[in-house]
Amino acid sequence: LSGLGVSTVSASPLRASAVGGPVLLNFNECPYGPAPVAQAAAREIVAGSGRYLFALAGELRDLFATQEGIGKDHVRLYPGSSEPLNRAAILWTSASAGLVVADPTFEALGDLATARGATVAKVPLREDGAHDVRAMAAAAARINAGLLYLCNPNNPTGSITPADDIAWLLANKPRQTRVLVDEAYLQYSEQRSVIGQVMQRDDVIVLRTFSKLYGMAGLRLGVAAAHPDRLRELASLGDNPLPVTALAAGLASLRAPGLVAQRKAENAQVRQATVAWLAARGFSCVPTEANCFVVDVKRDGSAFAAAMAEHGVVIGRSWPIWPQRVRVTVGTAAEMARFGDAFAAITG
Ligand code: PMP
Repeated sequence: LSGLGVSTVSASPLRASAVGGPVLLNFNECPYGPAPVAQAAAREIVAGSGRYLFALAGELRDLFATQEGIGKDHVRLYPGSSEPLNRAAILWTSASAGLVVADPTFEALGDLATARGATVAKVPLREDGAHDVRAMAAAAARINAGLLYLCNPNNPTGSITPADDIAWLLANKPRQTRVLVDEAYLQYSEQRSVIGQVMQRDDVIVLRTFSKLYGMAGLRLGVAAAHPDRLRELASLGDNPLPVTALAAGLASLRAPGLVAQRKAENAQVRQATVAWLAARGFSCVPTEANCFVVDVKRDGSAFAAAMAEHGVVIGRSWPIWPQRVRVTVGTAAEMARFGDAFAAITG
């Protein structure tokens, strides 16, 4: 954490903000960590972790597939969703196969594709925060895209691209352009998943992660769902054995009754209160359904983030396309109260 100016990290597995350190609202993490049942399951499995325990991965994959209503052979587990994201960049972007992304969106894929010499077309989000699917389809044709990235809800905005727009995109994109739908934040939103598409099409890959709502960022567990041919291509880059602690915690999370509904409701309540508080002071946010929001601070965003950090609240920074906006993760009600105090101290 040294790069963040956080000098003391609690020995507790909880966040630094729980013990009077800075409030960390910069990585879209879940402030509650893994559910208590998930923590207990991870602790319990450590005693048996001298073995490979391969069956556990199969159990989790099967339960995920059943809950989502898709085939087991359409699901593959990874240590986080970053892993299949990296593999997608390696497989499907190159000097001759471009990438289409929104602007702004989660940067990892664009950065990797750029490093690989691929042309990256950045298409500004619409005013309402949705992906501009018509402009993205046109860009895909123009740059001969091998891959199109659609983050729904989008990071950093938390904004939604409606199902109709995604359907239009799938019907109108170039045949050779695969569509990677990143649903890292879907569980926080009111949107329906497009994961069922993987049973109908071989050019859609859907990513999920246990890092966000399930609070397992440090445990590392993610899912790629796609046609078996696409999963085989992803797997061709190497095996990825998973830590049994992540598998045990992941299984317990999927089985925990009401966990998603409870965390989703808690997040929505705190987020709506924060966005309303900001609006009452004249600061507007892009419409959000996730555990983060982008607010227009009406001054240099990076300088604003630095000032917030001096007040003990670490937030995201601005983007070239939006120099006066910052991203903020929705924390606990107590953390957002500290956010509000710092925000008010800076903006007067
Ligand atoms: N996708 C999105 C949209 C993200 O915001 C993140 C993490 N910030 C990831 C993927 C990667 O997360 P992980 O590897 O922990 O699943």
